[in-house]
Amino acid sequence: MPKWVYGFGDGRAEGRADMRNLLGGKGANLAEMCHLGLPVPPGFTITTEVCDYYYKNDRRYPSDLEDQVEAALDEMARATGRGFGARRQPLLVSVRSGARASMPGMMDTVLNLGLNDDSVEALAADADRRFAFDSYRRFIQMYGDVVLGVDQHLFEEQLDEFKARRGHTLDTDLDGDNWAGVVEEFKAIIERELDSPFPQDPKRQLWGSIGAVFASWMNQRAITYRRLHNLPASWGTAVNVQTMVFGNTGETSATGVAFTRNPSTGEKAIYGEFLVNAQGEDVVAGIRTPQDLTEAARRANGSDRPSLEAAMPDAFAEFARNCEILEKHYRDMQDLEFTIERGKLWMLQTRTGKRTAKSALKIAVDMANEGLIDRDEAVLRIDPAGLDQLLHPTIDPNAERDLIATGLPASPGAACGEIVFSSDAAEAITQKGRKVILVRVETSPEDISGMHAAEGILTSRGGMTSHAAVVARGMGKPCVCGAGGVRVDYQGGTMTAGGRTFAAGEIITVDGTTGEALAGAVDMRPPELSGEFSRLMQWADAARRMKVRANAETPADAQAARTFGAEGIGLCRTEHMFFEEDRIVAVREMILADSEAGRRAALAKLLPMQRSDFIELFEIMKGLPVTIRLLDPPLHEFLPKTVDEIGEVAKAMGVKPEKLRERMLALHEFNPMLGHRGCRLAVSYPEIAEMQARAIFEAAIEVSARIGQTIVPEIMVPLVAVKPELDLVKGLIDATAVEVAEEKGIKPRYQVGTMIELPRAAIEAGKIAESAEFFSFGTNDLTQTTFGISRDDAANFIGAYTERGVFANDPFVTIDRDGVGALVRMASERGRATRAGIKLGICGEHGGDPASIEFCDETGLDYVSCSPFRVPIARLAAAQAALKAKGHEGGSGTA
Ligand code: PEP
Ligand code: MG
Repeated sequence: MPKWVYGFGDGRAEGRADMRNLLGGKGANLAEMCHLGLPVPPGFTITTEVCDYYYKNDRRYPSDLEDQVEAALDEMARATGRGFGARRQPLLVSVRSGARASMPGMMDTVLNLGLNDDSVEALAADADRRFAFDSYRRFIQMYGDVVLGVDQHLFEEQLDEFKARRGHTLDTDLDGDNWAGVVEEFKAIIERELDSPFPQDPKRQLWGSIGAVFASWMNQRAITYRRLHNLPASWGTAVNVQTMVFGNTGETSATGVAFTRNPSTGEKAIYGEFLVNAQGEDVVAGIRTPQDLTEAARRANGSDRPSLEAAMPDAFAEFARNCEILEKHYRDMQDLEFTIERGKLWMLQTRTGKRTAKSALKIAVDMANEGLIDRDEAVLRIDPAGLDQLLHPTIDPNAERDLIATGLPASPGAACGEIVFSSDAAEAITQKGRKVILVRVETSPEDISGMHAAEGILTSRGGMTSHAAVVARGMGKPCVCGAGGVRVDYQGGTMTAGGRTFAAGEIITVDGTTGEALAGAVDMRPPELSGEFSRLMQWADAARRMKVRANAETPADAQAARTFGAEGIGLCRTEHMFFEEDRIVAVREMILADSEAGRRAALAKLLPMQRSDFIELFEIMKGLPVTIRLLDPPLHEFLPKTVDEIGEVAKAMGVKPEKLRERMLALHEFNPMLGHRGCRLAVSYPEIAEMQARAIFEAAIEVSARIGQTIVPEIMVPLVAVKPELDLVKGLIDATAVEVAEEKGIKPRYQVGTMIELPRAAIEAGKIAESAEFFSFGTNDLTQTTFGISRDDAANFIGAYTERGVFANDPFVTIDRDGVGALVRMASERGRATRAGIKLGICGEHGGDPASIEFCDETGLDYVSCSPFRVPIARLAAAQAALKAKGHEGGSGTA
């Protein structure tokens, strides 16, 4: 006969913690607390299999369920010395849902069940009349709502009216007789609404409640919650029937909630609150202000109302002991509910407590130091994505927020400053030592310097991979983009949002973590890279196989990358260097030159600047690998765009605006992925690749001599589709190396490799590897060219197609294993088949996404490369991937 019902209480239980699938989280943990000898009110759990049966059999129960419930009730009666439906010493129970995963507030609960016109008198004689009738009316109200479907408001209005009639305002003004009067009126409501009296038979009440809990598994709230949290409906809920204990039987009774450690800071101290003479829901309802559990917390909060420790020292001491027992047993921070009934402590619930990223970090490190868990487990317990919260300043959670607009949370952290609408203004004002937020409709490469100068960025257009979003993440600057409610008026120097107008110079705050823009300056908290952070990172580094590099081109980015523990640069995009103010003129001269000689003259001006860029990078990276990518974008991107700009540039360069316009049209790229850009620029402008290679070699030779260590740069060729393209550029690089060797008398050491960022390149990888010493997967372009877009984006696909970058996948969407992932796997295999041990890395945005990093580990890549601020996330994710590959289970914890 299947076992549908599992009893617990009195120091024994039929279930265990590991039976969560069958008993739900709550039931399994109640059973476990019994095994640990903790005081748990006796009860039983009806399994999730009954829920399954119920829905598969037209909402009927298994035929033997009733007998099993009867037997369990008898056992409860024996354990408590009370009788269900008895006129004396009545047994009262709670009926609660309890699914495998916690679904707070989503399903129904009935308390004080077993009360009727007889047992309420017994309870009154046992405790007091006021308490008894108040409990009865609460039961009728809850049962009426949850089981009988009578509108809550009817009860609430009746109660208000009752109080008004007697001139009372507070519930506490009512005495026992008053409550008895309310009970009569509530029963009358039920009778009127349903044409039948309130059920007096406790068994009927019980089965009604059990049915209501099972039915609530399929209520709209629960269905929506499951959809949002990806929980399958097939799990079902269990039902827990448990002896009621009362925290509202006078001044020696209380009820409370607690965490075994502080869920927001991680401090090792019991944290929580309680109320004297109250029922569980009163603590969370916020009607009365709860008191602190410990004396230390009371002092810290400056409260003059006694702590539990002071008010009920014996119960508190026992509770503190239980906290320790539970933490040791579960080896994790617990979230508890308890009730004290006339001085006697009862434990009502335990579960793993939710916590902030900061708290998760401290708890994991502390527990490893305490020997409760090992270091690998500590590493597995931290959600890598949550680390982002710790690496940027954040808005003080207690600060007031004056919301003016909402957009996408494109780059985390918060910043405040004066509104500026142009890069020039951003630079000018920051030079005066003031802070600015750059507000643009969208940003473009010309805004880089303004973005650098700004504390944060707000755009009204663009998605998670818009220019603003990608660049801001790379810089580690807070960014909110695509805030459609913001209207920017460049001419007028104002923006309107939320019906208000803000002029340049007014202060706003952007919260890139939530995607909000706020009026005024809001209080911030600095990032805390505490001792625990670096400790956990050391443990992660010891566990991982893959290396972690950063995408960086400026000295500031490279420094940040080192600070965050990057082991090299996986992608230096040289085009960003060309946009700097002192370069762009020479770049434009080169583009506008009519002859090779003219181009070479302009490139000669760029050479020393480019060389000094690389010298700085090599010096900062101190011999760690640096991958430098040759120029990638189509050249028209370096030319001015608006009529005014064209006029200005033409004047400055001494050419006619028409010439500029003509050249722009000639260079404009019709086929953004396969046309005149990337490696194919070298077909018409080989001297650009030569200049860049020379700058790399000369810088490497110079820094090698200075630091006494040979620097071996990795030169990367972008947008290769087939081997001959790579060979063409490699030929230029090799020839330049020979030239430099002759001039300097030192043979440069270097590697030449390629991006794999086109599907064709993935297919050709076996051939390409004959020439390439390394591959770096450019999953940004690879995603775009594979049409590896997310489903939501697919809807906007056609419209977005023309705007490069906008329809690329969301960088925080994981690599699709059957699409882009399959190409990465295939290219890795083909590359290795040609060249065993070929170095493989990834430098698309996915290199900073934890789930994609797990994929990279499985695929055997040697390293991932991501923006500097994501390096710690990647280090941790790489460690977790390696530990999981070794068979460790995932951790738990972060809120
Ligand atoms: C890529 O395509 O993934 C890449 C890293 O190159 P970019 O983002 O510069 O196009
Ligand atoms: Mg690319």
